[in-house]
Amino acid sequence: MSNAVRLSIDGLSVQAEPGQTVLEVARAHDIDVPTLCHHPDLLPVGICRLCIVELEGQTAPIAACVTQAREGMVIRTHTASLRRQRRRVLELLLLSYHDKGYTHTDREPTELEQLCRAHGLPPPRSEPSQQPPQSQDSSPVLWVDWDKCILCDRCIRACAEQQGRFVWSRAGRGVDTRIIAGRSTSLRDAGCESCGACAAYCPSGALDDRMALARPKADRTVSTTCGYCGVGCRFDLEVVDERISRVASNPDAPVNSMRLCVKGRYGYDFVHHPDRLSKPQVRSYLLEGRPRPAQRGDWVEVDWPTALELCAQRLASIIRESGPAATGVLASAKCSNEEGYLMQKLARQLLGSHNVDHCARLCHSSTVAGLVMAYGSGAMSNTMRDVADEAAAFFVIGSNTTEQHPVFGTMLRRAVIERGAKLVVADPRAIDLTQHATLHLRQRPGTDVALINALMHVILREGLHDEAFIAARCEGFDELVEVLDRYPPDKVAELSGVAASDIEQAARLLARHSPMAVIWSMGITQHTTGVLNVLSLANLQMLLGNIGVAGGGVNPLRGQNNVQGACDVGALVNVFPGYQSVASTVAQRRFAEAWALDDGGPRWTAEPGATVTEMIDRAGSGQLRGLYILGEDPAMTDPDLGHVHKCLDACELLILQEIFPSETARFADVLLPGCSFAEKDGTFTNTERRIQLIAPALAPLGDARPDWVITSELARRLMRALGREPVGPLAAWSYSSTAEIMDEIATLTPIYRGVSHARLQRGEQLHWPVLDAQHPGTPILHVDSFSRGRGKFHVAEHIAPAEIPDADYPLILTTGRVLYHWHGGELTRRAKGLSEIYPEALVEVSLQDAARCGLADGDRLRVISRRGQVVARTLLSDRVAPGLVFASFHFPGEQNANNLTNSALDPVAKIPEYKVCAVRIERAEVGTD
Ligand code: SF4
Repeated sequence: MSNAVRLSIDGLSVQAEPGQTVLEVARAHDIDVPTLCHHPDLLPVGICRLCIVELEGQTAPIAACVTQAREGMVIRTHTASLRRQRRRVLELLLLSYHDKGYTHTDREPTELEQLCRAHGLPPPRSEPSQQPPQSQDSSPVLWVDWDKCILCDRCIRACAEQQGRFVWSRAGRGVDTRIIAGRSTSLRDAGCESCGACAAYCPSGALDDRMALARPKADRTVSTTCGYCGVGCRFDLEVVDERISRVASNPDAPVNSMRLCVKGRYGYDFVHHPDRLSKPQVRSYLLEGRPRPAQRGDWVEVDWPTALELCAQRLASIIRESGPAATGVLASAKCSNEEGYLMQKLARQLLGSHNVDHCARLCHSSTVAGLVMAYGSGAMSNTMRDVADEAAAFFVIGSNTTEQHPVFGTMLRRAVIERGAKLVVADPRAIDLTQHATLHLRQRPGTDVALINALMHVILREGLHDEAFIAARCEGFDELVEVLDRYPPDKVAELSGVAASDIEQAARLLARHSPMAVIWSMGITQHTTGVLNVLSLANLQMLLGNIGVAGGGVNPLRGQNNVQGACDVGALVNVFPGYQSVASTVAQRRFAEAWALDDGGPRWTAEPGATVTEMIDRAGSGQLRGLYILGEDPAMTDPDLGHVHKCLDACELLILQEIFPSETARFADVLLPGCSFAEKDGTFTNTERRIQLIAPALAPLGDARPDWVITSELARRLMRALGREPVGPLAAWSYSSTAEIMDEIATLTPIYRGVSHARLQRGEQLHWPVLDAQHPGTPILHVDSFSRGRGKFHVAEHIAPAEIPDADYPLILTTGRVLYHWHGGELTRRAKGLSEIYPEALVEVSLQDAARCGLADGDRLRVISRRGQVVARTLLSDRVAPGLVFASFHFPGEQNANNLTNSALDPVAKIPEYKVCAVRIERAEVGTD
């Protein structure tokens, strides 16, 4: 220990690091000093004085939490006098504390109650009130009771220090001192995001989780991984009477510590929603052996053998009649790695084609394609932690991080506030992060390549590029230089709408603050130029030498909880697990041998299969007759829904494995009830390639089964229906656990070779590639060389979006998600708190465009594109510039922005251009109100 100081605590001679407080030293040596206002995650303030200790040579006790350990100190922490004084402190606190007795008598005691007990004070509880309890705020998720507030300020500090928000503050003086939500009358108006951090840190129950208020002690607590976004937060599910009673922060969570967002903390009750599917269902015409009628007709509940045998026989007869290409599979970015692996195995081994895809096609296929071309690996190169802690600057482009990846957004916000990291945001909307940005570049949608080229033009012109890095590690630089010549800032200013001076300032700022991390999401990828956008960002980071270093890198934020993992395990049309190309004869041989059948198969073409959108088109034309979908909702989330619905309606056999009767269920012939994230085990891989376990907190609902069990059983029946036998154990589908499936993945997938459930259960933190059972994983990619050897600069030229405004459709629509809902909204619309906060679709319209159409805030408006229309409520907002409209796709029917979106595709990645289409707006006529 360098420069350590020596002191004595309770007669024990101990060492302390310089700067450590007496409290920290005591606790490091298992000496308990009681605290209330103190929390190890928060800066110490020394308000409550419960941590007083005696310091030899000083008459008055000192507060251990704010006193630094010094050489030679002699400290006593547990004398009779201290005990008396601490008891007195608690008695004083209790003078203004009043428990109205509305919480459960058998619940976990709060920290305050535990301390009272430990100091011989009666637990401060009242008889249950006759009056119905009232929260002192209208928040649907937070419970506020200032009668229990002890003014420890933990809520203020948690909000500011953990969330980078400043919702809470103190008001008044003396006995009138109180905590208030800013200067507003409600938390919502004070800018509260409802993340619940204040309640998680409150030691007295003044702030609590409204949905968990009357909870008794948990029967059990299960640590698992969030099922919403790709950040991969871990938390504890508390279970009472076989229901989740609360989501609690887990301080040991590797990505998020105590932090959670509103969806993770309060979006869990969909698990118990009455809409859950709990029995297999089949359309009556199928059961009766009739041809399909024009309308699919009634559902009939059946047992599992009936449902699965019917699916197997129908799929087998389609393959016999029309060949493998007449069937396809959509795997799920919400399900586990193990389940994704089985879905693509079923498609390839038994259906016999590469027709397997999932919603990564619609979110980050351009990232994967572009980064593979440039660097040889399509994944995020760094970790969220190293980016947030070590980047000198962030370039966030096309990522509404604080709403879509909220905990990572919080980490970025804190980096700017606490350590002065620079932030450049490029986004057509004035998203939340722009409030913290050094610069906001508000480019027109579809001009990203031009904007990034202009930034690189300035960097080159001013000699700010990293010549040594380029010379040592890259190729294709001369071609890039030639192209950049054509993108001077003044020319790009006209095209992009970003002032030339802002482009120059941004270029200098990003180049001079090293390392700089580039962060993007679907604002970059969901364009007909998605791959070119990604290549431009890859060029930028090579130009600045920001690759292979902590705090730098290319950081595409993957959307859903396991979209990264679903790609890793091969639920894509062009690669086997581990991104092994289907065109590779070596890979084909490896998988054909592993999954061998007694007919000498499986055999595949070297061509990729049909993508999500291609499969749906082919269903419409009759080329694709059987589609097996796990946990995806194309009838809600694909572009140009009018067309999608017609195609799904035409599909001869649609098997849907789901937890809710989704929009796609309207077009299904068989419904197989699967499990939510809270009812199964396996692994998810988060956006930074970190593989994490999930654990079942609940038994499957009714007759529902874990998805890996359903798919395995269907595969065994399909094999029999096809008259095939497996050759060898990996071909047989005889799994008894998800751990076994992971072992099979590891055998066949070099980047997962060293991954096992056993290692994860031991607490090992594994980011792929994990090359063998001893390999520690790879948090940062491309450290010494790129995955492809040399990084390759690519020429990327601006190409206009597929649809641009004209006289009939004069505005640009861009789409996205909001903080309180997730993707197609199947889960979050069924989470009570979330749907109360955000109950219906809102369309953001600029004040100028609204005035032109006579629209006021809250008015019903109609948004019309060449493909369809949306009717929803107007949200007047300066987040959108004049000429731009923003809408989401969380709500079905006439509120869904995907009625409008354009299905034009990026030619390489086949990702649709969700982010740009031409629309007009008008007041919705009376009758739609
Ligand atoms: Fe879940 Fe993402 Fe929120 Fe974390 S940030 S709690 S992973 S939704």
